[in-house]
Amino acid sequence: CGIVGILGEHEVAPIILDALKRLEYRGYDSAGIATLHEGTLGRRRATGKLINLSDLLVEDPIRGKSGIGHTRWATHGAATVVNAHPHRTARVAVVHNGIIENFRALRQGLEEKGAVFETETDTETVAHLTEMGLRDGKTPLDAVKETLAQLEGAFALCFLFEGEEDLMIAARRGSPLAIGYGTGEMYVGSDALALAPLTHRISYLEEGDFAVLSRTSVQVYDADGAPVEREIRYVQAEN
Ligand code: GLU
Repeated sequence: CGIVGILGEHEVAPIILDALKRLEYRGYDSAGIATLHEGTLGRRRATGKLINLSDLLVEDPIRGKSGIGHTRWATHGAATVVNAHPHRTARVAVVHNGIIENFRALRQGLEEKGAVFETETDTETVAHLTEMGLRDGKTPLDAVKETLAQLEGAFALCFLFEGEEDLMIAARRGSPLAIGYGTGEMYVGSDALALAPLTHRISYLEEGDFAVLSRTSVQVYDADGAPVEREIRYVQAEN
């Protein structure tokens, strides 16, 4: 339901939590954060209000300056901790808004190739598809491209990759997604409001776009994979 991604200069979990709070108005049943610390993916998730995730992060902190966060409004799979986003495999963590309509067929194909699923969600198929691509020797970008080509439905996605602290990939088809430009930091958010205290420089992905971010660069591609420029606007969020 709500997505935040940050490649930052500071410990990112509290900043993501704060951004998720600004997305609370959308409604949600659970929430979670994944970060990269010394190249390793870590994750914390909780059901109910964000205060539960916040308490968990106090008890069991998670370090790292690259992270993704999510507030979930369950469509496939009950509102449990296991089904809360981010979803992950060995090398991929992903958050997702929307619905992957063909997830059952994709899941069956992945299970036949040996993927072991932990959740009842449509989203977990996205992590496994991308993981399979990495195992086949593809780059994260090519693995995501191949994943996107197989997905049907409406979605916004944001990915992190084990061992890749300066890489985030975002994609939009049917659900809005904004890129925020910082100074030595880059952000992804399901709306400009989520990013408002972090930056006022925002570009919106267009239908079918995907984007590769580092702390100092953003490259957007259109649905055909051609590099494109998307206008950066100065957004003053009303708060
Ligand atoms: N379909 C996904 C799920 O049920 C994402 C729902 C959302 O947009 O929060 O986990």
